[in-house]
Amino acid sequence: MGFFADLHIHSRFSRATSRGLTLRTLAEGAARKGISVLGTGDFTHPAWFAELEAGLAGAEPGLFRLEDGPPGVRFMLTAEISTIYKQGDRVRKVHHLVTAPGMDAARKISSSLAKVGNILSDGRPILGITSRNLLEIVLQAGEGTMLVPAHIWTPWFSALGSKSGFDSIAECYGDLAGHVFAVETGLSSDPAMNWMVKSLDGYRLISNSDAHSADKLGREATVLSCGLDYFAIERAFRTGEGLEGTVEFFPEEGKYHLDGHRGCGVVLTPEETAERGGICPVCGRKVTVGVLSRVEELADRHDGTMPESGRPFSSLIPLAEIVAELMGVGSATKRVRQACDSLIASLGSELHLLREADVEDIRAAAGDTLALAVGRMRAGEVHREAGFDGEYGRIRIFRDSEGDRLSSGELLGTPLGRPKKGGARAKGKTGQPMRFDG
Ligand SMILES: [Zn+2]
Ligand SMILES: [Zn+2]
Repeated sequence: MGFFADLHIHSRFSRATSRGLTLRTLAEGAARKGISVLGTGDFTHPAWFAELEAGLAGAEPGLFRLEDGPPGVRFMLTAEISTIYKQGDRVRKVHHLVTAPGMDAARKISSSLAKVGNILSDGRPILGITSRNLLEIVLQAGEGTMLVPAHIWTPWFSALGSKSGFDSIAECYGDLAGHVFAVETGLSSDPAMNWMVKSLDGYRLISNSDAHSADKLGREATVLSCGLDYFAIERAFRTGEGLEGTVEFFPEEGKYHLDGHRGCGVVLTPEETAERGGICPVCGRKVTVGVLSRVEELADRHDGTMPESGRPFSSLIPLAEIVAELMGVGSATKRVRQACDSLIASLGSELHLLREADVEDIRAAAGDTLALAVGRMRAGEVHREAGFDGEYGRIRIFRDSEGDRLSSGELLGTPLGRPKKGGARAKGKTGQPMRFDG
């Protein structure tokens, strides 16, 4: 039985993140999701690092736990660094996930980075150094430090992205490229897409949520069966030993899956983009070329096989999105939150529920409709509206005709929720208590 790691996340000191992100909300969020090893994010930010030093205690080698935090959650020191520089006459913007096995190594990385740029204003600092030179700084900070190219296909900010990336990881890190052994696939691609590019065969594919709020933790994660130990995880990423696979978004849900212009309301498949010469039919400018196009551009394996280094993966939909679809309300609503809390309380963590809980147990706890929904998701029987140019896609389980029955309450039956204060049951939209029954 393995465990889940989600190493790329952010603190409230990064731009555009939830103000509520503290070590405690992160640890509690990880416990809800079923994540055993959570990245701290943002360790280069002095104020966040001070909180890490004050709040975390050493646990297993290279891992930390929060004092009085949920017992099963460990932290790993991680940060995302953005590098912007010119190479080969093009501006390169590449994001990197950096990890450290201890406070000293993290401090060393931060003090080296402070000499080359500003690490004070953003938890994810933007530095004018090359990817290669960032890697050198990370390697010099001591044994066990790691650099993993982040969300490698994102058009604007990644090692292989269509706008500012390279055609191979090796090209990005130059003479030090041999020290890179794992890459993060990002939300808009899944391992099967990455298997089409032979130059990635030598890298282990890992997944993380890149969460900017606690409720997004674990939307992607890596499954490990190695020891609960920083150095064992590093070895798993390097050799594949103890790396079991990943849990993924359906890649269409990612916000850069297809091509297009968000402002123009134009979404194009790779074939449509090619037919139009890459030009937006509304504004006449170049479209943002998404991940699928870019993967197909670099693809040199078309038979659908998994390379030897490959690992299985499961494509999941966040529980809040499934419940929201069943209730016919937004996924960020209080009702959805309460329903998810009660499901997790009776069935275990979210990742367990989505990935491996017995469908009969789900049926017993929450009714036929949720059991049917989870079964369809696991079988990949979902409807996909792909994301593009920064707009998230939408994955739905039920057809519109079925959706009408859901929102009319026909498929909503009896209570999911615990009795509210004063003894009243939680009410569904139709006045019926919430249970996802047909
Ligand atoms: Zn990033
Ligand atoms: Zn346009």
